[in-house]
Amino acid sequence: MLNNIKVNTLNFIFKDLIENMKEIEIIQPDDWHVHFRDKEILQAVVPETTRHFGRSIVMPNLLPPILSAKAAIEYKKTIQKAIPKDNDFTPLMTIYLTENTDKNKLKEAYLDGHVFAVKLYPAGATTNSASGVKNIEKIMPVLETMATIGMPLLIHGEVTDKNIDIFDREKVFIEQKLDFICREIPQLRITLEHITTREATVYVKEGNQNLVASITPHHLAMNRNDIFSGGIRPHNFCLPILKKETHRKSLVEVAISGNSKFFLGTDTAPHLKNDKESECGCAGVFNATYCMAILAQIFDDNDALHILEKFTSINGAKHYKQHLNKKKIKMIKKNSPIKFNSILSINDKDIVIFKPNFPVYWEVEH
Ligand SMILES: [Zn+2]
Repeated sequence: MLNNIKVNTLNFIFKDLIENMKEIEIIQPDDWHVHFRDKEILQAVVPETTRHFGRSIVMPNLLPPILSAKAAIEYKKTIQKAIPKDNDFTPLMTIYLTENTDKNKLKEAYLDGHVFAVKLYPAGATTNSASGVKNIEKIMPVLETMATIGMPLLIHGEVTDKNIDIFDREKVFIEQKLDFICREIPQLRITLEHITTREATVYVKEGNQNLVASITPHHLAMNRNDIFSGGIRPHNFCLPILKKETHRKSLVEVAISGNSKFFLGTDTAPHLKNDKESECGCAGVFNATYCMAILAQIFDDNDALHILEKFTSINGAKHYKQHLNKKKIKMIKKNSPIKFNSILSINDKDIVIFKPNFPVYWEVEH
């Protein structure tokens, strides 16, 4: 009893110390969901991620998508060439699941170490997802194989039925698709990616131990009003779309809880400015540049700085059975809000960098 009281008091003092700190050091973070695209965009955005993160799971939704180990290896080489010198960043490659994915080839690619995980996009769910899965039943044999060999499945969890309201598509996916997969193959290691709803937080918390979820900085920072504040804000349009404030609060709650089932996947998704500011603007928020600063601010504002490291650097690595990064990063709290660069320039084109609508005092020391 006395020992418990001592431990609790120590915990309290420790927490209090951290909350008042102007400086924290954490294990180098990983980004478990990133879009590097290709060509000139890839060249520009890779260094934005490698500056802070040790590893990233790289999404395969290129045109054409990454469907084979061969394509993943080629793509990895292209990424590696764009990593600045003296940076030991590791890209972890994925294959885009279709109804024609060959389970034996997939198994070989995983066991050879060329491919880290498989990405499931419901057909039409987001950027370049036309070749995605229409009928979950058809991919069940592939998922069985993945469960047997321990290969992770990453899911964009939204139904694509046009009759379902866009704000309900994640919730309906969980009810109609995810629950079916989890019940049929409970051993399958699943990440429900970029969750946006209270329903998702509850389902994952209560679900089997192999089910986890990633959360983006922009879904922690914004609600759906931010798409329409004073006019339409195409740079805050992403998929899954931002939800009501109650949902954002649920996401913050699980992120700062330290629950090991929830971790960072930024879903940083660059598009050229012109492609977002258009008659039919692309979905995606490019958040790599200030992701860690924004997260530190959100955790600090919620008295949870002592949990930040779990969310960004521990929980995900443990789920994916990876060692923790050996390096540390130092973050510093400034006396006045940091100034954000708003644009990443690519020759004569621009990518707009995500900036939240609240002041950010934290930054990563370089
Ligand atoms: Zn994504």
